[in-house]
Order: sequence, then structure tokens, then C-alpha cells
Amino acid sequence: MRAVAEQRNDVPSGATGARAPRSVAVVGAGITGLVTAYALRRRGLQVTLFEASRHTGGSIRTTHTDGFLAEHGPNSFVTSAPVEALITQLDLQDDVVEANPDANRRFVVRDGVLQAFPMTPTAMLTTRLFSLRAKMRVLLEPLVRRGANDADESIASFVRRRLGREVLDYAVDPFISGIFAGDTEALSMAHAFPRVVELERAHGSLSAGLMAQRRRAKSPAASSPEPGAPQETAPFARARLISFVDGMQTLTDALEASLAGTLQLGCPVRLLHRDGSRWVVEAGQDGATTSQTFDAVVMATPAHVLAAMELPAELRAMAAPVERVAYPPVSTLTLGFARADVAHALDGFGMLIPSREKRSLLGALFTSSLFPDRTPDGHVSITCFVGGARLPERAREDTDLLVERVLMDLRQLLGVRGEPVYAHHVYWPRAIPQYTVGYQAVKDAADATEATNPGLYLGGNYRNGVSVGDCVASGEQIADRVAAYITRAG
Ligand SMILES: Cc1cc2nc3c(=O)[nH]c(=O)nc-3n(C[C@H](O)[C@H](O)[C@H](O)COP(=O)(O)OP(=O)(O)OC[C@H]3O[C@@H](n4cnc5c(N)ncnc54)[C@H](O)[C@@H]3O)c2cc1C
Repeated sequence: MRAVAEQRNDVPSGATGARAPRSVAVVGAGITGLVTAYALRRRGLQVTLFEASRHTGGSIRTTHTDGFLAEHGPNSFVTSAPVEALITQLDLQDDVVEANPDANRRFVVRDGVLQAFPMTPTAMLTTRLFSLRAKMRVLLEPLVRRGANDADESIASFVRRRLGREVLDYAVDPFISGIFAGDTEALSMAHAFPRVVELERAHGSLSAGLMAQRRRAKSPAASSPEPGAPQETAPFARARLISFVDGMQTLTDALEASLAGTLQLGCPVRLLHRDGSRWVVEAGQDGATTSQTFDAVVMATPAHVLAAMELPAELRAMAAPVERVAYPPVSTLTLGFARADVAHALDGFGMLIPSREKRSLLGALFTSSLFPDRTPDGHVSITCFVGGARLPERAREDTDLLVERVLMDLRQLLGVRGEPVYAHHVYWPRAIPQYTVGYQAVKDAADATEATNPGLYLGGNYRNGVSVGDCVASGEQIADRVAAYITRAG
């Protein structure tokens, strides 16, 4: 992507005499758009941030009711150098809360029983999560031949090949549900976890690659993670799992506050076309649309939004693979219980549920164990995820039916006895982009769209990673590229 962008030399002409300050439209005020707009403003550019809904944050939103805190989307995220820098710039250091160290313990359900996921070699030997045969198969991993260099393999195929069927079913499948709400047979290993594929390519096996990484991390020259390093690097990097005292929305609220005067809420962008070297953006609703011209436009919306916009025919044709990225639906359901009504200690991050267990739940976070003060005294909260690529129709069920189904699982798995005293349901019709096998076509289409439309940038979680940290890094990178493009105009 960077190589293509650097080849561009078609920049807005500065030779036409005095003109207004360079202006940039950012479309979509999720974390990607907010960070892009914030970083562009810090570089002295004039920014207008268009947001279709009445609030900023996109997937990030926090609700406080009756002493319970419920996140609509992400509950926590892993820090990286760009995230730490942003927190400092926004002066949010005192608002950060690190996850309880118990969060290192993650449970995976097998045969209806929660098993702690083994995090050390000794734990791997003694765990009941995997059979003896599966453990032996993992020991053989260094002997498995490396895959073809150019193959775009599904996650399922990669893991079956390197680690065996049981590790796929009881480790990788539930973790993939937790990150992508996705299907391991459909998702691409190279696009979802490029660094893991790189370990195999560079070192021949994952075991050898991990050992090399550990040696590097221990060496004095080891540094913090690269900016933009995707979340999958977290286990190897000095990263923190965090939220904020008042929830994730603290971050997007702080960005919004710093963008006063640039934000147009309730203002969906409907039309985009070129006018010479500039871009015309038409936005608004209920007949009240306005048309404005900008030197550059950053589309920081979900990929499918392009399909609903009026675009020049050649741009539409080029971006077609981007428009088709799949986003399965997910429902999040935060339930509050009296402490005495839950038998399980909830002493961990949460529980992940493999497809083979055939449950309604994809997984659940033990929210009140993860961060303090998220419930009234004497209560606990559990955030449940339903649907995804595994059971899309279940995500669409109404709240009462969903609570009933989820409660059935919680009663059997966690020993929940009473009724919930609190329930907060959010339905995401299109939750998380799926980096499926063949995703290179989407990346190529996005690169080509940018290369042939100077001044147009495509961002968002379908491009450089789905985690909040990935989106922060990606927003910063887009701002750098837009600023470089505009500077080249002189
Ligand atoms: C349920 C759920 C749980 C998650 N959990 C985690 C987690 O625990 N940790 C983690 O790191 N990540 C998590 N993620 C992923 C992460 O939250 C998202 O990938 C990230 O927030 C996406 O940010 P974004 O800005 O790219 O897109 P979005 O948040 O989707 O923002 C896009 C914005 O564009 C706006 N928009 C759309 N159309 C238009 C238009 N025509 N004109 C103007 N504006 C428009 C939308 O209203 C929206 O505000 C989760 C996501 C979901 C859905």
C-alpha cells in the first residue's frame, strides 16, 4: 500500500495563485476517523469530520445504568506505542485502568466444563483441555514442513497442518470467535495473523520462531513494538490490556472534545466526486444536504458503506471488492447478577466456547472481574457475545429470547442461579470485517482505488487490523500520508 501511495505525483496544484488553506474531509467518526482527524489537526490542516449518527465513537460506546457499566463494543484493548502516545497527548494517563492480572487466565469450555487455557509448558502438559494425543501432536510441530510460500491458507488449514485438529477445535476456533466472530475455515491466516505466518516462513516452525522472538526480547537491544504492529504481537510485546475508569468511551469522548468545531454529527456522506484535483463531498439528511470541496478525503467508514454512496462509475468499479467485505452480525448482552447467584469465582478474563460445544454463546467476558467498580456492591457482570459467522441468525433474535438462551448456557457453565438484575443488549447488524481467504483482492482494490484517485484515502478496520490499537495506528498512518500528499502541493 505504501509503495503505491509513494508513486503518486498528482497533487493539488498550488500554482493557481492565492487559495484557501488546505482542507481535508474525514468521513466516519469511529476510532479510525477520530484519530485521523486529530492527527491531521495536529499537523495544522483544516479538517471537517462527517459522522452519520448523532454520536462519535462508532463501535466504541459505554452505557452507565443503575451502577452497571456496559460496553456496546470493545471492552478492553492492547496498548502499543501509538496508543500510549495518544493517551499521553490526550492527557488520559490517570483515567487508564489496567485489566486485573487474573485476566491472564482465560477459560475454554470442553464437554460443558471450563478449563483454564494453558499458558506455560507445564500447564500444557497437565491441562485437561487437550488429550494426550493432541499434546504429542503439538510437540511434533517443529518437525512439520513449512507451507507453500505463496499459499493463502485458511486459519483452519494452517492450524490443522501445524498443530493438529484438536488445537484447532479447542484453542484456535474459540479465540477466532473472540477476535473476529469468524469462521476459521473461511478466514485467511496470512491476512488475519500475518506475523504468525511470517514466523513459519522465517524460522520453519512456530516453535523455532517463538524461541527466536523470546531470545530477541531478552536481548538488551529489544525495543517496544513497532508502530502499527497488529494485536497478535501482544503476547510477545510489552503491551498492557487496558480500558478507562469510565469505560472505553473516555477515549473517543476525549478525541471528540479535541476536535471541537470540526465535527458534523448526523451528517452522512452520500456522494463523492472529483472536481479537477479536488474532491466534492455531499453530506446531510432529510433533504438538508450541503456540498463542500476538499483537497483530500479520508473514508473511515465500514467498507460496505461505499456501496450505498453515489460514486463516479470508474471509482465504484475499482472499489467493488472493498464494498463486498463480509461483516457478520453480533449481539452483545451484558448481564448483572447478585454475587451470591453465580457459583463460579469468575476469576479470569472470561470464557471462550468452541463451535463443537454447540452453545448459543460465542464467549463471555467476566467484566466485573476484569475492571473494578463496574457493578453496584455485591454484584457481578458478564458480557456475552452471540452470533458471528458461526450462528448469524441467533444474533438477530430479540432481547427476551436472547436473554433466555444465554441464561441457559450461563446456568450450565457458570452455575448461575437467579435471574439477572440488569440486562443491556446491543445488536450489531454488521460487526467485524472478515479477512477471508482471497482478501488480497480487497487490499489490492483499496490500493488501486487510492492510486488512481489522488487525494482519496480508504481507512478503517477492514484494512490494517480490527483491534482498537490497529485502528489507532492506522489513523495515524493515514494522517501521515494525507499530510505528505498535501505538502507535495507546495
Ligand atoms: C461487538 C464488538 C466487540 C469488539 N471488541 C473488541 C475488543 O475487545 N478489543 C478490540 O481491540 N477491538 C474490539 N472490537 C473491534 C473494534 O472495536 C473495531 O474494529 C473498531 O472500533 C472499528 O473502528 P472504525 O473507526 O474503523 O469503524 P467504526 O467504529 O465502525 O466507525 C465507523 C463510523 O463511520 C460512520 N459512518 C458510516 N457511514 C457513514 C457515512 N456515509 N457518512 C459518515 N459517517 C458514516 C459510522 O456511523 C461509524 O461511526 C470489537 C468490535 C465489536 C463490534
